[in-house]
Amino acid sequence: MTEAQRNELLQHWQETRQTVADLARAGGRDPRQVRIIAVSKKQPLEAVRILAQNGQQDFGENYVQEALQKQTRLDVPGVAWHFLGHLQRNKAKFVPGRFVMVHSLDSLPLARVLREKSEAAGLVLDVLLEVNLGLECRKCGISEEGLLALAESVAAMSSLSLKGLMALPPYELSLDEKQRAFARLARLRDRLTVMLGMTLEELSMGTTDDFPRAIAEGATMIRIGTRIFGPRVC
Ligand SMILES: *Cc1c(COP(=O)(O)O)cnc(C)c1O
Repeated sequence: MTEAQRNELLQHWQETRQTVADLARAGGRDPRQVRIIAVSKKQPLEAVRILAQNGQQDFGENYVQEALQKQTRLDVPGVAWHFLGHLQRNKAKFVPGRFVMVHSLDSLPLARVLREKSEAAGLVLDVLLEVNLGLECRKCGISEEGLLALAESVAAMSSLSLKGLMALPPYELSLDEKQRAFARLARLRDRLTVMLGMTLEELSMGTTDDFPRAIAEGATMIRIGTRIFGPRVC
């Protein structure tokens, strides 16, 4: 990366952090309660290194192979990797120990494989359930109808730690529609908290296009890619 590209990256990152902190405060929350996951899929390792060296801790990836390559080559300690994409069961073995959290758990068969692999590694893996709010055209996410049963099963798995919910409303929705989807996810989380009798503190929602709306509805983790890194390249 050139010096100019490096400065631009750091500037976009700082501006994003400032905006997120301002929005959190405006909503009466401590800025530390809204974590930025820098979504580095299809972004160069060099960009990840620069942000990590400057103190960005959390990075999100969608593809196991790509993420493992970055993890192997990144020489900055203290980085936490989040898995955000659709996880194939035959790749689940790579997750425990390499990712601190899976945001996209959406089926019982996947939960069972993750449990088995975490248990074998002697680890407890943090997970979020990805909810399909019925607006998504794609098949990702558990339906609202199936959510309680999956949450109960996952909550009973000792090598998985259920932390909350995640959603990715379809790109085409208006900002108001997306905000309603975020509000719905927050209500689902609240209901689930009562029904399971356990704290589910995390709400992973909001991307480059809509993160202010997600923060307004209580997001605790926002997943920002292009706003920080620019267009995805590799
Ligand atoms: C790619 C991706 C993001 C980041 O999207 P941007 O528009 O680049 O901010 C966030 N969440 C998930 C699940 C993604 O796949």
